Amino acid sequence: MHLAVFCRVMKEMRMDKFKGYRCSLCNTEYLPGQVTYTCPQDGGNLDVVLDYDAIRQKFQPEDLTCRAEDSLWRYLPLLPVPDPGGEGTPIRAAGWTPVFTLTRLAEKLGLEHLWLKDESRNPTASFKDRASAVVVARAREIGAEVVVTASTGNAGAALAGMSAAIGQKAVIFAPKSAPPAKVAQLLVFGAKVILVDGTYDEAFDLTIKAAQEFGWYCRNTGYNPFTAEGKKTAALEIWEWYNQKKEWMTEHGESVSDVPLTVFVSVGDGNIISGMHKGFKDLLALGWMEKMPRIIGVQAEGSAAIANAFHAGTEKIIPVSAKTIADSISVDLPRDGGRAVRAARGTGGTYIQVSDEEILQAIAALGPLGIFAEPAGATAYAGLVRAVGQEIVKAGDPVLVLNTGSGLKDVRAAMQAVAAAPVIEPTLEAIKRIL
Ligand SMILES: *Cc1c(COP(=O)(O)O)cnc(C)c1O
Ligand SMILES: [Zn+2]
Repeated sequence: MHLAVFCRVMKEMRMDKFKGYRCSLCNTEYLPGQVTYTCPQDGGNLDVVLDYDAIRQKFQPEDLTCRAEDSLWRYLPLLPVPDPGGEGTPIRAAGWTPVFTLTRLAEKLGLEHLWLKDESRNPTASFKDRASAVVVARAREIGAEVVVTASTGNAGAALAGMSAAIGQKAVIFAPKSAPPAKVAQLLVFGAKVILVDGTYDEAFDLTIKAAQEFGWYCRNTGYNPFTAEGKKTAALEIWEWYNQKKEWMTEHGESVSDVPLTVFVSVGDGNIISGMHKGFKDLLALGWMEKMPRIIGVQAEGSAAIANAFHAGTEKIIPVSAKTIADSISVDLPRDGGRAVRAARGTGGTYIQVSDEEILQAIAALGPLGIFAEPAGATAYAGLVRAVGQEIVKAGDPVLVLNTGSGLKDVRAAMQAVAAAPVIEPTLEAIKRIL
C-alpha cells in the first residue's frame, strides 16, 4: 500500500484541461464550443481531447487515489466536466463498484486469477450510471433544460436516476419491448417516458430528431461524446484497483503476473468498450500506467455487428437484424462500432460471440457466487468461458470480467436460466416426496 500521501486540496479541478474534440474517423479537431455531438463532416464519433501536460503539471496519481470520494467523481481531474454537486444524492454514488474474487470459477476454468467488477452495484443497477452522471454534469454546465436519450432501458434508467438526483428534467425514448422492470425505473424516477413501437435503433434516430426539434440536450450513447468519458471511469477504477491488488499480492507472497490484465466487456453499441479503452489510453498518455490491458469484447451471436467487422478486418460496420435475449446489447447498427473495433485491435484483444444459451448458463454460473446478472451483464463471463476453450486466455493470465447490469432488471430472463421451484402441499410428506 502507498503510505500516507499528502492529499492536496483541489478546488478548481477542471482547469483548462478540456481542449476540445477529435474525430475518430478524419482526425479533425474541434474546440469545445464548436460542436456538440458527432463530426459535422462525416458523422464520426468524437474523442474528447484532454491537455495531458496541464494535468501532469498539476496532478500525480496519488492526488486522485488518495481522495476521500468513493464514486467516479474521485477522477474529476481527468474528466472534461465540472463537479455537478449533488452531495448526498445518488449522483455521488455512481461508480466505485466492488471487485470480487471468483475463486471457485477460476478453479473450474483452470485460471490462476479471476475477478469480476460488479457494475450492478451502481445507483440504478447498471454500468450506464457512469455515462449518465457525466452527461448530466455537462448538461448542468451548458444550462440544458431537458436531457433526452434513446435507450434499451438501462441508459434511460440511469439518465432518469441521475437527473432526478439533481433535479434535472429528462425525457426517455425506449422500445415498447423493454423489460418491465426497466420501464418501471424510468417512470418511478419521474422522467417523461415515451415508448416507441419499434426497435432501439428507431428510437435512437427519433430521439436525435426530437432533440433538434425541441432544443433538448441529447445523451444518446456514442452520439454524445461525454458518454465515453463517463464510461472510461471504470478503466480508471480498474487501474487503481489492480495496482493496489498487485501490491497486496506481493506483500502476501502471492505470485504476480507480468502479463497485463485481460478485461472482458459485453458489447452492444460499443460505447462501454471504447470508453474503457479511452480511460486506459488517458493513463498511458499521462505516463501513469505502464502496460495497456488487453480488452476482449463479447457480443451475442444474434447481435454481432461489431464482432463481424472485427473478424472481417475492418472498422466498417454492417448492420444486422438483432435478436437476442440480452436486450441491453440488442443493436442493429452499433453507434460506436469503429472505436469498439479499435479497442480490441489496439490492445491485442479480440471479439467473441456467444449464444443466448451460453448467456443463460453464465447467469446460472454466477448466481451461486452471489452475483445476479442480467443477460447482457453475464455475457462477458460467457465470453470468458469460450475464450478459455479456445485458448485465447491461458492459465496464468490475470482476468477481470465486468457484470454490467443487475439480474433484477429482467427477471423473466433470469427464470429461464434456472429450473423452476417445486410447488408442494404444506405437509412433511410432500417435502419428502420431492427431496
Ligand atoms: C448498455 C449495456 C451494455 C453494452 O454497452 P454498449 O455501450 O452499448 O456497448 C452491456 N451491458 C449492459 C447491462 C448494458 O446496459
Ligand atoms: Zn470526421
